Amino acid sequence: MTVAPLAIIGAGIAGLACARALVDQGRAVQLFDKARGPGGRLANRRIGETVFDLGAQHFTARHPTFRRALSAWRDAGLVAPWPTRPWRVSADGWQPASAAERFTAVPRMSALARHLAQGLDVHTGQRITALQSTRDGWWLETESGAHHGPFAGVVLALPTPQAAALLGPVAPELAAACTQRPMTPCWAACVRFSTPLPALDAPAPDWQTAAFLTGPTRTLHRAIRNHTRPGRHAQGESLTLLADVAWSVEHLEDDPATVADALLAAFAAQYPAPLPAAECLTAHRWRYAQPAAADTGGSGYRLGADGLALCGDAWRNGRIEDAWLSGHALGHHLATHSADKENLHA
Ligand SMILES: Cc1cc2nc3c(=O)[nH]c(=O)nc-3n(C[C@H](O)[C@H](O)[C@H](O)COP(=O)(O)OP(=O)(O)OC[C@H]3O[C@@H](n4cnc5c(N)ncnc54)[C@H](O)[C@@H]3O)c2cc1C
Repeated sequence: MTVAPLAIIGAGIAGLACARALVDQGRAVQLFDKARGPGGRLANRRIGETVFDLGAQHFTARHPTFRRALSAWRDAGLVAPWPTRPWRVSADGWQPASAAERFTAVPRMSALARHLAQGLDVHTGQRITALQSTRDGWWLETESGAHHGPFAGVVLALPTPQAAALLGPVAPELAAACTQRPMTPCWAACVRFSTPLPALDAPAPDWQTAAFLTGPTRTLHRAIRNHTRPGRHAQGESLTLLADVAWSVEHLEDDPATVADALLAAFAAQYPAPLPAAECLTAHRWRYAQPAAADTGGSGYRLGADGLALCGDAWRNGRIEDAWLSGHALGHHLATHSADKENLHA
């Protein structure tokens, strides 16, 4: 008997990992994402010849299951160790930091998502605005009024506030679980300079990232030099400046131009030499950047009634590794526990 397809809303790293696990075990899956391409918070922005990573910059690989996936990505040239020369900035100035093992996708973070999406049925530019449960199964309604379905189940691989908005009318208990996992914002500014930044003193003049240590007046969380990433050496000097969480909350509704100016001014105030002229400067607001707190005790996903399920970084610990593990574990669970049910609504 034919098994009805599953729908996954959200083609970020969690939704893609979930889809891959399901498809690898023979389940039919359709993904829907409101953005123009897959990746979610692994987004980049291109301005002329310059590519900025806007969201996640690099990632850890601690869990053995994730490390196995990472090993295959490394063999395929999709990821590489980076940064190897991180710095930290405190009241004592700029200092080299210890280089904990981190990886980045090559040549940009979104390339990993595009690789994972290969061969999957991904519908981009489709913002889902409502879920409907019928005798045939689940139907998805899009912003333009189109309907997709029926589906045996629906996975919401979304930041929790966005999942809660869809679940409220159909699954209040799952929506309530989402509201207990709030997320924090982050402003990100992108700046391209006319010439390279003046070098810092030895021992590591070619710094790649700089973490700004916590303090009551902290504006910046991290500065990232995009052209120091593997595969990006040809592009000119450009920075992504990530704001501190508390600062982002305080300035959430500011206009992007004001935020971009403030983040560049904060960087200039802490850089030990005058900055070259900025050729372009923009800012992007991540309203839901990372979960406010870790959730390390559970399965890494949530199951509801009638074939609804939730995955994403909020159900673990707010990192790429967590998002992937969450989606991967949910995909395996659904493939092994519902493969014998031709339709969860039957
Ligand atoms: C500024 C920033 C810095 C970060 N830094 C790091 C870091 O250094 N290391 C690290 O490991 N992690 C970092 N993260 C976190 C990391 O990016 C996330 O943990 C991970 O990408 C989350 O993946 P996800 O699939 O759970 O969610 P998402 O990537 O958010 O995917 C959700 C998808 O759902 C789509 N969507 C939302 N609503 C709808 C709808 N109604 N209909 C259709 N589609 C919808 C979105 O377009 C999106 O593609 C950072 C995040 C940000 C924003």
